Amino acid sequence: MSTLNRNDHIACHECDLLLSRPVISGDEVVYCPRCGSRLISSHPNSVERSLALALAGLILLLPANLFPVLTLEVLGRQQAQTIFSSAMALYDDNLPVVALCILLFAALVPLTKFVLLTYLSLALHLQKPWPGLALAMRGYQHLDEWSMLEVYLIGVLVSVVKLVDIAEVHPGLGLYSLGTLILVTTLSSSQLDPDLFWHQIEALSEDVTKKEFADE
Ligand SMILES: [Zn+2]
Repeated sequence: MSTLNRNDHIACHECDLLLSRPVISGDEVVYCPRCGSRLISSHPNSVERSLALALAGLILLLPANLFPVLTLEVLGRQQAQTIFSSAMALYDDNLPVVALCILLFAALVPLTKFVLLTYLSLALHLQKPWPGLALAMRGYQHLDEWSMLEVYLIGVLVSVVKLVDIAEVHPGLGLYSLGTLILVTTLSSSQLDPDLFWHQIEALSEDVTKKEFADE
């Protein structure tokens, strides 16, 4: 049985076809010959763009969570709701699971994602073999499937439509921040080049292993 050198081969993420790694330059894109999905494309400055978007996401999470998403006005009485206060209201209404879901998917998952992405892209930008890079990358890729800000935003919009007859509804700064946050999340997912990131993480950890061998 022959063994494959892991740097010479690449597997299609859609249909698992194993191919020899093509060398690409400029803005070339390589497609899988079997299923036609995109295998590699060069995202110029993928690491730096990811870093910038991750920092923007971290900053936007503050107004999205701290400022009211909606302010309701009924008979002169105003009530402002933030993501956190709406979760607490659901908890008080004996819906702890829904409250937990809101906190998880609207606040904790995006926060963890952007922290991981900042850590990863900063390490790769500075070429520092910080601990747990592979774990952070795996965690990031898993969490990428679990971001549900869009669902939350649709929920808010549906409630606006339902409430607009019985109350005056004012969108708050939190809602605009949430919309921008969704845009930044989508951009960061599309800008990140997983192949490049994994390649650089591997190169950094190999450098450390070589150094450790040399020190012994
Ligand atoms: Zn394929």
